[in-house]
Amino acid sequence: MGRIFVVELEGRSYRCKFCKTHLALADDLISKAFQSHRGKAYLFNNAVNVTLGALEERMMISGLHTVGDICCCCCGQIVGWKYEAAHEKSQKYKEGRFVLERVCIVDETDFFSEFFIDTRPTISDSEDA
Ligand SMILES: [Zn+2]
Repeated sequence: MGRIFVVELEGRSYRCKFCKTHLALADDLISKAFQSHRGKAYLFNNAVNVTLGALEERMMISGLHTVGDICCCCCGQIVGWKYEAAHEKSQKYKEGRFVLERVCIVDETDFFSEFFIDTRPTISDSEDA
């Protein structure tokens, strides 16, 4: 395997919850109405910094799909799946699209609020003049 190239996204983005790598742009979000066995999931036009696992036929609520798990390329955690093919005509719009599970990603705004909480308040200078 070659080197891992991490793509930095510009603009509001979703990141891997585990290692904070950029995974998708908020602008590429198609739908928040998806569901996985672990809870809510979001459909994106595109995702970056992910590796695609072995493809398999998976029966879902909306029909049979060819999907592959996607893993964060930095920490290896499964963060969702990619629709490689949809067998139902009405589901064709999902082909080539990515689903990220809500439990595996953080919204950049969440990330910044966490960061803010972690930051210690400014300590006033106690040196006597
Ligand atoms: Zn990660």
